[in-house]
Order: sequence, then structure tokens, then C-alpha cells
Amino acid sequence: MEPIRIAVVGVGKIARDQHLPAIAGTQAFSLAATVSPHDPGPKGVPHLASLEELLEKGPAIDAVALCTPPQVRYGLAVQALKRGIHVFLEKPPGATLSEVVALRERADKVGVTLFASWHSRFAAGVAPARAWLAERKIEKVSIVWREDVRVWHPGQAWIWEPGGLGVFDPGINALSILTHILPRPVFLKAATLSLPENRAAPIAADLSMCDTGGAKIHMDLDWRQTGPQSWDIVVETDAGTLKLSQGGAVLSTPSGTEHNEDLEYPGLYSRFANLIRGGRSDVDMDPFRLVADAFLRGRRETVAAFND
Ligand code: NAP
Repeated sequence: MEPIRIAVVGVGKIARDQHLPAIAGTQAFSLAATVSPHDPGPKGVPHLASLEELLEKGPAIDAVALCTPPQVRYGLAVQALKRGIHVFLEKPPGATLSEVVALRERADKVGVTLFASWHSRFAAGVAPARAWLAERKIEKVSIVWREDVRVWHPGQAWIWEPGGLGVFDPGINALSILTHILPRPVFLKAATLSLPENRAAPIAADLSMCDTGGAKIHMDLDWRQTGPQSWDIVVETDAGTLKLSQGGAVLSTPSGTEHNEDLEYPGLYSRFANLIRGGRSDVDMDPFRLVADAFLRGRRETVAAFND
């Protein structure tokens, strides 16, 4: 089977750390081009400053992976979908819920694949956690997602702007795991969003949620963590406690602890290839909707200014 010719759009941290190596490591795709306004792209690959230029001048592509900040994702996705090009959206899938719904409708109309990716769902412990929880009664869930923004997002101005999501940029990864492993739907009850006095997006958030069976779910998100970082989800059930730590990589249940190889991005590209070959899309809005609900229903508090 011929490889799917893909362009990576937005050559920043995640494109270099994960997308380019994952594409290089699979026979399902071949890297046809990269696009970024300032970054020169990797050596030996055609590079263009804009998607518009790529679509006009070539090389020919079958798919794009949009690795830009979310605020520009919709416009880029529309350009690709108009040409019948399959689209992989980095998380979060857009800057608003309604633009993602509009993309889904457009992709369906033209019969191409739209994939709203959630990389944390491909962390090693997540699929076995989902299987373990499927038969359990969920009693309580606690999520602690605390990291140092200066380490993980140095100089990323877009993340503090409207649509950048602030601390929900990493927090949505926890929500993508939560909504995937719990057997019942989850909804938000209350939230507090802490916004630095000089920023438009939260640096911390506290969420109270529950599932439709009444299990209480608490989430503590904070970007001011120094020292050890925490990316933990603890689920108490009628059969004991399940813990996912290190962002979903490590799974502990009453029968022991598993730590398997990290295959998040290879897993995403394998899924994207299968969706394209099968003529299907995968656009799950659940994690993004919970973030939108936190902005809709949350109480805002102003906290100390944050400077990089
Ligand atoms: P980043 O380092 O700021 O990179 C974003 C890149 O997008 C920039 O290099 C910029 O290119 C490019 N860009 C901006 N507007 C563009 C446009 N109109 N057309 C083409 N390229 C454009 O950000 P990032 O950390 O890689 O994050 C990007 C997305 O991936 C975010 O949604 C984030 O949530 C997600 N993500 C990030 C991580 C992570 O660990 N960083 C992990 C998983 C997912 P120039 O530099 O050339 O201007």
C-alpha cells in the first residue's frame, strides 16, 4: 500500500518532539512537507511558510497534521478540507466547541477524515485501566495535575491568550483520560479558575465533577508547581483503588503495577491511518466540552501576576 503523503503544519515543540519522529517511524505515512511561518523545518524536506502556499505550489499531499496553537487551527483545517485533504488535529481540537462541530460537518460532507487526537488516551496504562474499570462501581475520583509552566511552556505567549486554555492545555489531557476510562458520562458541577492579574487564561483551576452514577470527581490543576511534578488519577471502586500516574504511563491496581513503553504518538498515527483507510472520522468532544463548561460555570479569582 502506498504511504499517505502528509504535511506537518506548525513546526514547534510537539511537532519536533513527537510528530516528526512518529511519521519517520511508520510506513503508513511519508513526510511530504512541513509548514511554519518562521521555523525553517527539518533538513531535506520541502518547507513552506504557509499552508496556502503549500496547497498552491505543492508538493502534493493527502493529509495534514495541524500542530499549531489552537487559535489558528480552524482556518487551516478548512483550507485542507476544501481540497479533500485528511486532517489530524492536535489537542485541543480548536479554540471553540462550535468551530470543531463545523469542521466535523464539513469533513463528513466532503467525505474525508477528521481526527481530533487525544494523545494521552494512547498512554500505556490507559487501555488496561479502561478495561479494568468497565466492570467496577466507581466510588470517587481524584485528579492532581500539577506542573511547572516555566519548564513545559517557556515563552509560549499563545497559551495565555483567549483560546489558549492556560492550565487546561495540560489539564485537558487528564480530562481526555478520565472521559475515556470511566464507564459513565461525566459532567461539571462547579469550578474555580485562578487568573493571574496580567493574563487572560487561568494558571490554576479546581473542578468538582461527577458521573451519572453519582461518583464524585475532584480535579486539582496547577501550573505553579516546582519540584516533583504530578500527573495522577486515582479511582476508588468497589474492588479497590486504581491509580494512573506519570500522565497515564504507569498503572497500579490491587493486583500490581505495570509500566509499559510510551507509544502515544505512534498509536495516534496508526489510528489516523486506519481512519483514512476506513473512510471514517473520530471527533470526540467530551474533554473539550468539560473545559468549556469550566469556563461557562466557573468562578474566577484574580491571583498574582505571572511573568515568564
Ligand atoms: P509551539 O512550540 O508554540 O509551536 C507552535 C508552532 O505553530 C510554532 O512553531 C509556529 O511556527 C506554528 N504556527 C503558528 N501559527 C501558524 C500558522 N498559521 N501556520 C503554520 N504554523 C503556525 O507549541 P507546541 O507546544 O508545539 O503546541 C502546539 C499544539 O500542540 C498545542 O495545541 C498544544 O496543546 C499541543 N501539544 C503540545 C505538547 C507539548 O508538549 N508542547 C504536547 C501535546 C500537544 P513558527 O515558530 O514558525 O512561527
